[in-house]
Amino acid sequence: MYPKYSLIVPVYNEEETIPELYHRISAVMDRLDDQVELILINDGSRDRSIEMIRELHQHDRRICYLSFARNFGHQIAVTAGLKFARGEIVVVLDADLQDPPELIPDMVEKWRQGYQVVYATRTQRIKESWFKRFTAYVFYRILKNLADVDIPTDTGDFCLMDRQVVDVLNSMPERNRYIRGMRAWIGFKQTSIPFERGPRFAGEVKYSFSKSLALAINGIISFSRVPLRLATYVGLVAAIISLIMAVLVIYWRITSSHSPLTGLATIIVATFFLGAVQLVSIGILGEYIGRIYEEVKGRPLYTLAEVEGFEN
Ligand code: UDP
Ligand code: MG
Repeated sequence: MYPKYSLIVPVYNEEETIPELYHRISAVMDRLDDQVELILINDGSRDRSIEMIRELHQHDRRICYLSFARNFGHQIAVTAGLKFARGEIVVVLDADLQDPPELIPDMVEKWRQGYQVVYATRTQRIKESWFKRFTAYVFYRILKNLADVDIPTDTGDFCLMDRQVVDVLNSMPERNRYIRGMRAWIGFKQTSIPFERGPRFAGEVKYSFSKSLALAINGIISFSRVPLRLATYVGLVAAIISLIMAVLVIYWRITSSHSPLTGLATIIVATFFLGAVQLVSIGILGEYIGRIYEEVKGRPLYTLAEVEGFEN
């Protein structure tokens, strides 16, 4: 018999938070009405996380774990967890307790009401830097405007998913995984519950600025082709401007009035401007082509060094 609930927690250098994580999650697990498995995914941690996870597994058989051969990133860790999860109800949450496990029973209640996806929306971010809050705010709004699917704003990966949804997610082979977007793309009956996102329990943020930026760019590129069209629009506007200028120059010639367009400065500014537009357009093309290249290689998403606890 498989457990009814699977809880998925990606772990990357979280030795300071693991004891408290276990303490709080196991309290919630005891309260659930059926069997639970807790899947910890060690994403190539360089601290004592994996030793602590092994110990937990020895001590509590509800804990299963996967260990990557190196760091593959949060989204890939969650992907691996989803592949291994066996429950009918699957919950994804962070190891740093910014996603309170105490919210799980409320999510399950929504599932009972017939929702296949219950995601948690941040009403507030407490004690995160203004920079993070500001960039997150701007990014989610840009994404909302550009994306082909309606990706809810201020929503992370903290969610409950029904088996049906998890099976669809598992069948999506793409490597550039923006899970919160893929989850929205899948559809079904979805609902949100609000929560206040507190500070991480201990330790440093594991998502560096460059990792967050990469995730953000991934989100936009995976769910929108608007950036590709940008070059077309800018090109059209430049063409119209140059036509108007051509007419003006001829007119000034004929009327032999003094033309304001003479001089090296005009030429230099125009050249630089168009050069910049072209380089940015090539860069955008490159982002898409790079992703095609990544997909075409068809490499596995991760390499597993250890898999434990899934045999029964
Ligand atoms: N994480 C991971 N691999 C990484 C980075 C982060 O598995 O390369 C995990 C981390 O252990 C945590 C979660 O992803 O459980 C979220 O990371 P963090 O709290 O640092 O980022 P936040 O989302 O709070 O900015
Ligand atoms: Mg966090």
